[in-house]
Amino acid sequence: MTDALVLEDVRKSYGNREAVHGISLTVHEGEIFGLIGHNGAGKTTTLRMISTLLEITSGSISVYGHDVAKEPEAVREIISYLPEDAGAYKDMTGRAYLEFIARFFASGKEKDEMVAKGIALADLGERIDSKVDTYSKGMMRRLLIARAIMPSPKLAIMDEVTSGLDVINAYEIREIIRDIAKSGVTVVMSSHNMFEVDMLCDRVGLIDQGNLVLLGTPAELKEQFGVDTLEEVFVKAVKGA
Ligand code: ATP
Repeated sequence: MTDALVLEDVRKSYGNREAVHGISLTVHEGEIFGLIGHNGAGKTTTLRMISTLLEITSGSISVYGHDVAKEPEAVREIISYLPEDAGAYKDMTGRAYLEFIARFFASGKEKDEMVAKGIALADLGERIDSKVDTYSKGMMRRLLIARAIMPSPKLAIMDEVTSGLDVINAYEIREIIRDIAKSGVTVVMSSHNMFEVDMLCDRVGLIDQGNLVLLGTPAELKEQFGVDTLEEVFVKAVKGA
C-alpha cells in the first residue's frame, strides 16, 4: 500500500496559542479519509498545512514522499485544495472559468481535454455558459469540484465540501468523490455530516481541541463505542456521554 500522506507530530501555533497539538497519521493511496471534529477543533488548520498554504510550526508532512516544507512546489503539482469558502470569478461563465484554470496546467489539446473533463464533471448542462454570479450554491460547488478534479491531482483535499447543499447535489458530489477515489485519487476531506462520513470515508480521524483522539474505519469506531452511528461515536468521544 502506497502512503499518499504522512503527518508526523504536526503542530501549529497562532502566535503563542497552539491550535494543533502533535497530530500523526498516514493516509493510503486511493483512500477517502475523513477529518471530523467540532468547530474550531483544528481541521481547516490541518488541511491548510497539508496544502502548503500554512507553515507548520513543528513536525513534518509528506505527500507522496514530498516534504511540504522543503518541496512545496512538488507538492502543489500533485494536490488540489478546495477550501470551504472557495469562490469563482463572478463575471466569467462556468466554461470560461474552467478554461482560465486549465491554462495554468496545460495548453493546446491537453488543455481542451481538461476543460471537457471539467465540464462533464460539473454537469451543469447549458448553464455552464451562464455567468457564475447567477449560480446557486450547489451549482457553484459543482463548478469548484470540477475545477479541483479536472487536473487529475494525486491527492484531493476538500474542506466541508457538501456543506449547505441540497440532497441531490450532496449525493452527486459524494458520487464524484467515490469515482475519483476508485480511479486511484486519494481524498482527504472534512465534514460535519456524520451520515456522509460514515457512508463515504474508508477511515476517519476525530480531532478534539487540536488532538487526534480517534482513528479508524467507521465500523471500527462504532464497534469500539458499542453504538450504531458515527454521530454517537462523536458525542461519546467528545463529551464522554
Ligand atoms: P470549523 O469546523 O469551525 O471550520 P476547524 O476545525 O476547521 O473549525 P480551525 O479553523 O482549524 O478549526 O481552527 C482551529 C483553532 O485555530 C481555532 O481555535 C481557531 O480560532 C484558531 N485559528 C484558526 N485560524 C487562525 C488564525 N489565522 N489566527 C489565529 N487563530 C486561528
